[in-house]
Amino acid sequence: MTDASPPRPFGRIALIGIGLIGSSLARFIRRDGLADHITVCSRTHATLDTARELGLADSITTDPRQAVEGAELVVLSTPLSAYAAIAEAMAPGLRPGCIVSDVGSVKQCVIRDVGPHMPDGVHLVPGHPIAGTEHSGPEAGFAELFQGRFCVLTPPPGADEAAVQRIVDLWQRAGMTVEVMDAGHHDKVLAITSHLPHLIAYTIVGTATDLEDHLKKEVVRYSAGGFRDFTRIAASDPTMWRDVFLNNRESVLEMLQRFSEDLTALQRAIRWGEGEKLFDLFTRTRDIRRGVIDANQA
Ligand code: NAP
Repeated sequence: MTDASPPRPFGRIALIGIGLIGSSLARFIRRDGLADHITVCSRTHATLDTARELGLADSITTDPRQAVEGAELVVLSTPLSAYAAIAEAMAPGLRPGCIVSDVGSVKQCVIRDVGPHMPDGVHLVPGHPIAGTEHSGPEAGFAELFQGRFCVLTPPPGADEAAVQRIVDLWQRAGMTVEVMDAGHHDKVLAITSHLPHLIAYTIVGTATDLEDHLKKEVVRYSAGGFRDFTRIAASDPTMWRDVFLNNRESVLEMLQRFSEDLTALQRAIRWGEGEKLFDLFTRTRDIRRGVIDANQA
């Protein structure tokens, strides 16, 4: 950096977890020169070695406490089930003024699992970049993953405004539109837009897997009829999705209840030959698709 260069937004950043999301974050932090130093922490040496080979880390460790020492920003990007233990382990290494954020797909559980371990003067700003693929691991990431997508931040009441703004700025630099909302609201909205669709995909693909052999073979062959799109979603990481359903139980069950009622209504319409009912619903749902395209989220 020359004397004329503006200061980097962050000194030391610690990334805990360096899979699809963590490594995409590392790539864009590197690309845009947003930190003086990136420390990467992961569970296994194999993942850490890969992160280093990919040029994503200035230093590596398996120890969360060591990783966060001297960090201005810590971002958790592991499965949700690992959060509580990581928060407890890293807490003694956190310095006052540090911001602790994350990328997890459910948000109330972050305040529940990480919040109690945060020392005084450390700012917890949970976040969820709503962007992803069905792939996992440090090699799967790319800096443009977040471009044009939404990111939701769910700071607990009374959170430090300057800390929240720094995380808003970070995700905006990644090309995201950032919204701040209550964690419970986030979990409800995502239950219908993300969690239920994944559950349905897992169910359909599971049902096909249980068919008799002669039908099963035909499923793959004729998958372009619609099944193919569900197989992509149902190929998503099993650990991540197990954790999503265990940690957003209430909201998912509520949306699932509504969905089951609507499915039963459709079942009746088909049974009784009520074509108009089917046609009306399919016309309404087409409009939703147009809305998604207009919002550039297709
Ligand atoms: P991933 O590619 O599977 O990477 C997970 C990372 O967490 C790896 O570095 C892994 O370390 C580490 N890890 C796994 N289990 C751990 C444990 N028990 N203790 C400590 N570290 C552990 O995962 P990802 O897709 O990036 O997802 C990470 C987070 O992002 C999740 O909370 C998920 O909800 C959220 N998210 C995902 C998506 C998506 O589409 N994938 C989108 C938005 C948000 P090792 O490899 O060393 O075991």
